[in-house]
Amino acid sequence: MATIKRRQLLSLAGAGTVLGLSACAAPARTPSTGPTGAARVVVVGGGYGGATAAKYVRLLSQYKLDVVLVEPDADFVSCPLSNLVVGGSRTLGDITRSYAGLTARHGVRVVRDTVTAIDARQRIATLATGAALHYDKLVLSPGVEMMWDEVAGLRAASREGRILQAWKAGPETGALRRQLEAMPDGGVFAIAIPEAPYRCPPGPYERASVVAAYFKAAKPRSKVLILDANEDVTSKGALFKQAWAESYAGLLEYRPQHKASAVDAATNTLKFEIQDDVRADVLNVLPPMRAGAIAVQTGLANANARWCNVNWLNFESTAARHIHVIGDAIQIAALMPKSGHMANGHAKVTAAAIVAELNGWEADPAPMLTNTCYSFVDAERVVHVASVHAYAAAERTFKPVPGAGGLSAAPNARETAYAFDWARSIWADMLE
Ligand SMILES: Cc1cc2nc3c(=O)[nH]c(=O)nc-3n(C[C@H](O)[C@H](O)[C@H](O)COP(=O)(O)OP(=O)(O)OC[C@H]3O[C@@H](n4cnc5c(N)ncnc54)[C@H](O)[C@@H]3O)c2cc1C
Repeated sequence: MATIKRRQLLSLAGAGTVLGLSACAAPARTPSTGPTGAARVVVVGGGYGGATAAKYVRLLSQYKLDVVLVEPDADFVSCPLSNLVVGGSRTLGDITRSYAGLTARHGVRVVRDTVTAIDARQRIATLATGAALHYDKLVLSPGVEMMWDEVAGLRAASREGRILQAWKAGPETGALRRQLEAMPDGGVFAIAIPEAPYRCPPGPYERASVVAAYFKAAKPRSKVLILDANEDVTSKGALFKQAWAESYAGLLEYRPQHKASAVDAATNTLKFEIQDDVRADVLNVLPPMRAGAIAVQTGLANANARWCNVNWLNFESTAARHIHVIGDAIQIAALMPKSGHMANGHAKVTAAAIVAELNGWEADPAPMLTNTCYSFVDAERVVHVASVHAYAAAERTFKPVPGAGGLSAAPNARETAYAFDWARSIWADMLE
């Protein structure tokens, strides 16, 4: 770490507190707290990308780099498996994990706060509490922001809790489940899907499937309507359609090319650019999405003013030096899904590149990424898609490796254990 320089914490003029090195509790069991003068990596967001990046910067630097993770939520709540909470076969407790291991085992300083501004020139992140954090490198993994104004009336309906998204796992996930429980038998649940790209391509179809399974068992006169802005199912299409035909005929209806334009919360009605209005008892409307607000506000969303372009060798923003953007917030490479598994991979490539740069080493010139995504078609049966992505130096991007990966042959019960094992493994990889 000969090239690592000490960077002091700075307070912004009038910003209030300076968050010092001693401001967070010292880790109970830190392998090594790092020498005084260690460079600092600030990680924004403790989701699939950020938590992994925080742990792996510590690990790969042999606990020499100082890592601060800023996250407003007290615990990590997983979006993967959250559709099972909506479907009623799992609880929010089953998909919630603590951040304590990151501190106790890896010496990551976890600060429960929100980054409200990033000064890329001075390398300072300002927190909602007014504290200021100086960084040598900043990893930004803020997930997605809903583009409320793309669907008229949705912002207010969402704020009032009448029309939910539950596209970030947490209290809304439980609230959507309660809406479904309160719905009378014979009611209609409608889910509206925006045009791709959006967070988790198969997620809405999985949600529709597990809700259909719940209705089949508990409210058999009810109906699930999928209203998709896309031309066809965007992921695992044949497998979902097989499950719908075999298990939910007459109960679940799929309508492509239905782009939602407005909602009327008073009558629970969804309006479209072209087709007739649809009224439902429970409406789950997903608007178009873009990179998390802090990325947009910092001027990093330089792809269609929605997503963040990065240098694929180290995930550094093409708009600002020393800021590395990972996870759902980036402009994807070909066939790269916005998934937790991918965000975990982005984080590891980024952590390795940051540690290399701060040591004066060459970064890996040929990084690889993988993705596996399981979707439940009911509480017992699963389908998966997997892919491998390699950095292509000539094109300076990631490309899928032909012949690697694949799909389930059919919805099946055998892979259900794999799906739960996948979740346990990736949570441990991020947080323990
Ligand atoms: C229903 C559903 C099912 C899914 N199923 C799967 C699946 O089976 N497999 C899979 O791989 N993926 C799945 N996904 C997708 C996966 O959840 C996302 O791709 C993944 O969470 C992206 O990671 P991220 O780090 O970019 O964002 P997130 O995991 O959302 O993390 C972002 C974090 O940043 C924090 N944050 C935001 N702004 C700030 C700020 N200004 N300051 C500090 N913190 C901030 C947020 O609080 C949040 O904790 C699913 C998603 C959904 C919605």
